[in-house]
Amino acid sequence: MNLRRPNANEATGTRNRSKDVAQNSGICTVCREDCTGFCEIFLSSFRGREAIYPGPFGEITAGADKQYPVDYSHLNILGYALGAKAIDESNPDKAIFPEVDTTAVYGHLYPVRMKMPLFTGALGSTDIARKHWESISIGAAIAGISVVVGENVCGVDPELQVNDKGKIIKSPEMERRIKIYKRWQEEYGDIIVQLNVEDTRLGVAEYVVEKLGVESIELKWGQGAKSIGGEIKIKDIERAKELQKRGYIVVPNPSDPIVQEAYKKGSIREFERHSRLGFIDEEEFMKTVEYLRRSVGVKRISLKTGAYGPRELAMAIKWSSNARVDLVTIDGSGGGTGMSPWRMMEEWGIPTFYLQCLAFEFAQKLAKKNKWIPDLAMAGGFSTEDHIFKVLAMGSPYFKAVCMGRALMIPAFVGDNIQKALTGRGPGRWESLPMTVSKYGTKPEEIFTTFITLKEKYGKEFEEIPFGAIALYTFVDKLKTGLSQLMAGARSFRLDSLSRNDLVCLTEEASKISGISYVMDVQREEAEKILNS
Ligand code: SF4
Repeated sequence: MNLRRPNANEATGTRNRSKDVAQNSGICTVCREDCTGFCEIFLSSFRGREAIYPGPFGEITAGADKQYPVDYSHLNILGYALGAKAIDESNPDKAIFPEVDTTAVYGHLYPVRMKMPLFTGALGSTDIARKHWESISIGAAIAGISVVVGENVCGVDPELQVNDKGKIIKSPEMERRIKIYKRWQEEYGDIIVQLNVEDTRLGVAEYVVEKLGVESIELKWGQGAKSIGGEIKIKDIERAKELQKRGYIVVPNPSDPIVQEAYKKGSIREFERHSRLGFIDEEEFMKTVEYLRRSVGVKRISLKTGAYGPRELAMAIKWSSNARVDLVTIDGSGGGTGMSPWRMMEEWGIPTFYLQCLAFEFAQKLAKKNKWIPDLAMAGGFSTEDHIFKVLAMGSPYFKAVCMGRALMIPAFVGDNIQKALTGRGPGRWESLPMTVSKYGTKPEEIFTTFITLKEKYGKEFEEIPFGAIALYTFVDKLKTGLSQLMAGARSFRLDSLSRNDLVCLTEEASKISGISYVMDVQREEAEKILNS
């Protein structure tokens, strides 16, 4: 069985000429010498390295479509006809799904409450994150969930000001991002700023904490889409040179006269800015956490780790336990904002389901030794309320939230496009409403189910909320309702009452990996007792 055929995918804008394709190579069974295209090998023959990345950069997000042997669809949620947890079950007017409490809490000494166990993926220096930031951050703030500012935001800010030691004095783009979220933040949710190698050199933590009032910093060990740090594309050679001067790895080298000549002639049209690989070390990790807490004044520290193998996962959980890290986000492979190498997205790492099962096992082992367990969150291809249920139930009691990357960006795109079509304002792209939207109406109050509720709540300020933020709020509202229904069906009325017993595995392989009961084995003893009584 082939899990993913290479050499053609919409992500790289490639396809096979023939419908008959050799599974392993992805090459058409008959490959013609006069073929006019358009598979990945064909494209790479003249555009070379450009064929590595999904595109068009800055306008898309991409997610791997490899079919892993086991994923979250191998779990089903159990429903019950009796009993209820975290509610007065004797009152049928109370034990109803709108009464489910979806409030999540994470963090150690300064806990953060969120209205849903949900936060955004890291929105870093990619164009698509920058363009839709207002919608995503305001949407997250009014929905009461946390938002993460990704790596390199200061590093690529064209208006960045640094002192003679190369440390940040001012980054208008970072300032904009933080101010927007904080303005709309209520008592739920938090803004977290990521730190990679270049960010550390620039003094991003010191800048955002001391000057911008940020309380939470996230250390980063790679991510889901790739294990080599953040990347973006740059079209302008002068900008490429500027980023190279700031210490980034830029390829091809824009200072090389041959590359400059190729750029002039048009054969090289873009440059790639790459971050450096991090090299983790326990002593350094402990020192960094200590420094951020004591010297910089960071209140909460999180760690984001990618789809690495069990060794790095064990390090992430153990070291975070020792350092009393507030949250560890474990990102299974798969999605990104468009500049992760496509084949890397498809082929690297421990897939999300397996990764969460390992993390649960490791947390449980440490807990048995009376070690303190940091709150855990899972990322990597989640988009629905049942995903949230399954992650929290399977990871109970250690997993507290789900990080949604691409899924939480779609509402911002949709809302921004609606706004552009209706008002001509904002980063959207539509000239007019497509039928898929206009069938619900042509005014925003007819299109968005939450429009009137939010207008009522925010009064005059409502005018400043972009449609993309309303869309994100509306999407989170759908997730909240759906999650409440699933939880009520499982008779759990608070997130901390979810348990591994609320799930069954549909395949024996999933059961072996997760330790969750196989569907034909679950509740057998209780059933037998009833039958024999
Ligand atoms: S070059 Fe053409 S015929 Fe050959 S594998 Fe690619 S698409 Fe198919």
